[in-house]
Amino acid sequence: MTIRATVWGENIHEHVNEVVGKLYPEGMHETIAQSLRQDKNITARTAVLQDAEHGLTDSVLSQTDVLLWWGHKDHSAVAEDIVERVARRVWEGMGLIVLHSGHYSKIFKKLMGTPCSLHWREAGERERIWVTSPNHPIAAGLPPFFELENEEMYGEHFSVPEPLETVFISWFQGGEVFRSGLTYKRGAGSIFYFRPGHETYPTYHDVNVGKVLRNAVTWAYNPAAPLTSIHDAPNTPVEQSHEPIVERGGKLHKPGEAGYK
Ligand code: ZN
Repeated sequence: MTIRATVWGENIHEHVNEVVGKLYPEGMHETIAQSLRQDKNITARTAVLQDAEHGLTDSVLSQTDVLLWWGHKDHSAVAEDIVERVARRVWEGMGLIVLHSGHYSKIFKKLMGTPCSLHWREAGERERIWVTSPNHPIAAGLPPFFELENEEMYGEHFSVPEPLETVFISWFQGGEVFRSGLTYKRGAGSIFYFRPGHETYPTYHDVNVGKVLRNAVTWAYNPAAPLTSIHDAPNTPVEQSHEPIVERGGKLHKPGEAGYK
């Protein structure tokens, strides 16, 4: 059984910016997918904003164990019903890996429930990424730290909820630090936010970044059947209580009536 990953790319900068186009001639999503395919236990397909339903049809999502998300320039173009569809799959157990500027994607903000803001500087600074959870599966095989010679700076405060685990913290040449590898659980789904990945730098060609992405896909994979019951709110009848009880007090609902949603 292989892990089925779908790499979602906004697929704009590659076509409108010469630097990005040269770094990622087949698109950032394809470079990321190729990196994932280095693990024989992962199959990786791609989907882009411009596809019908952004490439995230019910059929594609039902065959996706882990979704990776890179977006930047046009988060607002992602349709609300597709965001809702992706969120439901995460709650049911699909893994989600949100990359770099995806911190402002609709899906990440919805699942975090906070502004997800940060401050930034595009100056090609060295980023030193420290492993702060050495035994974490996402950090498997990595040295204590690794460096990207050119990256965009992201600085604290990163207005996300307190994570379950902080796997990486980045230091930048200009002096800022940033929590750059964060894990969350939403419903039955595992979520990993990974900071590096500015489009004008060759970040997704880096061997350590590739290792992190493959590790993260493996970590986020949930082999259990989708927890579709997570959306239900059944009105459980008195006669089905586990110990005998007698109804008392005032009632709003008739027996068997559905609740408000
Ligand atoms: Zn960026």
